[in-house]
Amino acid sequence: MSSMAKVIRREWLDWPFFEPRHRAIGSALDRFVQSGALDKIDHNDVDDACRKLVRAMGEAGVLDCAVAAPEGDATTIDSRSICLSRESLAYADGLADFAFAMQGLGSGAIALGGSVELRKAVLPKVRSGEWLAAFALSEKEAGSDVAAMSCTARADGDDYVIDGEKTWISNGGIADVYTLFARTGEAPGARGISAFVVFPDDPGFSIAERIDVVAPHPLATLRFTGCRIPASRRLGAPGGGFKLAMQTLDIFRASVAAAALGFARRALDEALWHAKSRHMFGATLGDLQLTQAALGDMATETDAAALLTYRAAWRRDVQKLPTTREAAMAKLTATETAQRVIDRAVQMFGGRGVRKGEIVESLYREIRALRIYEGATEVQKLIVARDLLKPR
Ligand SMILES: Cc1cc2nc3c(=O)[nH]c(=O)nc-3n(C[C@H](O)[C@H](O)[C@H](O)COP(=O)(O)OP(=O)(O)OC[C@H]3O[C@@H](n4cnc5c(N)ncnc54)[C@H](O)[C@@H]3O)c2cc1C
Repeated sequence: MSSMAKVIRREWLDWPFFEPRHRAIGSALDRFVQSGALDKIDHNDVDDACRKLVRAMGEAGVLDCAVAAPEGDATTIDSRSICLSRESLAYADGLADFAFAMQGLGSGAIALGGSVELRKAVLPKVRSGEWLAAFALSEKEAGSDVAAMSCTARADGDDYVIDGEKTWISNGGIADVYTLFARTGEAPGARGISAFVVFPDDPGFSIAERIDVVAPHPLATLRFTGCRIPASRRLGAPGGGFKLAMQTLDIFRASVAAAALGFARRALDEALWHAKSRHMFGATLGDLQLTQAALGDMATETDAAALLTYRAAWRRDVQKLPTTREAAMAKLTATETAQRVIDRAVQMFGGRGVRKGEIVESLYREIRALRIYEGATEVQKLIVARDLLKPR
């Protein structure tokens, strides 16, 4: 997608969820995309591309809304700014969106629970794009059921000693700082997990394997073998790690929906362009009513998903209300919708739709993992249902 980074049309910024400052962020993102910074980067080497993308976004100030300043209050991070950044970046370049998201997700728990020293040491470097950040929660036997994690951190004098593995870790192998969640055993299940900052040169830390996926991103399994870190690298209270992970995910969950929207809007625009230019049966593809029905569905479903996404972000930012249910509705609707919209776009392109190098082909691969990570669609449905069934 990088070689054809395009600026998204943002009529939706007139919706009542937004303030003038969001329009300013939108314009800054457009200038960044139009500067050609994304197109200059060779995306074939994803490790190198991510480093360069993060550096370019840091220099342009694009990361400022996703990574808290060391003295800032992380709870005031503006979800709408993150969402509109991800929607715009995903529209232009899937890898840029991924790199943006990881800087926020990888540093969120540090901003929320880190000591002043840790925040000062890490956040400015992540915010400027000098360092890459990662969020290490999942394990082979603890994905959706994350509280089943078995990676341990044992207190030993002024240190913790970490043993175990984490897998599916985005930026694994290239990150300069990892937020790690491990079992410290204060209580069974979720209440016995703490969060830590780990650096790649900590003794006993290694990359067990790199993982290839359909839409290439840096991804790895991390191994900890008697990995010793100072206790001052714990984030928040002992046993408070799961809460920190959930607080971080709460800030970013609606933004997965926004990334899906960016992919969907790009697919819709590509489909529209193709429908107008592809001649067949003495007309254009777009003159055929079956195509018009598909386009009508694609546009309507995308806007419906966008309304749910920005409602969740607005409710968190402005109403300061819990958004567990709203973010879950947004994530499940936007990711499932985007998959359908992109699939229709691929269909409209015919053979070209599955040809490597076509935008819709890469969108088809990019969207798939979003329906799985940060809570699969099934998990989001359960979150919505449990919230509905809660005694009030
Ligand atoms: C590209 C990519 C990037 C990732 N990046 C990170 C990262 O940076 N950090 C990190 O910690 N993790 C990351 N993950 C891991 C991701 O969060 C997990 O893959 C996800 O939580 C699902 O866990 P799992 O793969 O073990 O699948 P499982 O937990 O085995 O689930 C398999 C499937 O079961 C279904 N399912 C789940 N729960 C239920 C239920 N209650 N009822 C019925 N069906 C259900 C869902 O369809 C789900 O997809 C990433 C994953 C991918 C694919």
